[in-house]
Amino acid sequence: MSNNKYKILVVEDDRNILSMIQTVLDLGGYQVLTAQRCQQGILMLTSHMPDLVVLDLGLPDMDGEEFIRVARRNSMIPIIVLSARSDEQDKVSALDLGANDYITKPFGTAELLARVRASLRINHMNMRASIPSSVFTLGDLEIDYDRRQVAVGGSVIHVTQTEFNILSLLSRQVGKVMTYSAIINSIWGTMDDGSVKKLQVNMANIRKKLGCKPGENKYIINELGVGYRMLDPQE
Ligand code: CA
Repeated sequence: MSNNKYKILVVEDDRNILSMIQTVLDLGGYQVLTAQRCQQGILMLTSHMPDLVVLDLGLPDMDGEEFIRVARRNSMIPIIVLSARSDEQDKVSALDLGANDYITKPFGTAELLARVRASLRINHMNMRASIPSSVFTLGDLEIDYDRRQVAVGGSVIHVTQTEFNILSLLSRQVGKVMTYSAIINSIWGTMDDGSVKKLQVNMANIRKKLGCKPGENKYIINELGVGYRMLDPQE
């Protein structure tokens, strides 16, 4: 498969990591553009119109979050954030600002390519779906938005209103990591001390009802300490 039509902008100031990513994406058949500063990356975003951005958060001139803010003003371009393991909070706020996914350093080439492929595919799926479908399908899971009904293997599953709202939210953002606060604000409107626990309890019930065994990532991936992600149907 040729990826020649895809242009990827990599914004990273660490030369070793930048050249590693460039090599991997080159070999993967992508066209690669690079920037080592945030401001340069922002300029290249408008001048080169890439299909996807791989973005380091710690940049010398500006915080990578500024890049996401500027990009999200007029573009839904997929943004994959690179973050160090210690920057848990940065990762979460980057996702809340509109980044699609994250990779924790150090990462392997297979992981990078898989995340890039997934983000490109989801973006194309969303662009094609100009008329939003009223039924979401993922394996044997079906979510009917109009009838507010969930079925597994053809059998309707009883879910509460809150559980349905959570499933609906995650499936409409398929493939994207939704942080705890993004889900909580969207479902309950406000966030307090007990919110994350409340969400986790709802999620445990949802997984049980969908027939997921503990630890199994059948439909929904538990991004530990960050949030949840509905699996891309082709993943
Ligand atoms: Ca850096």
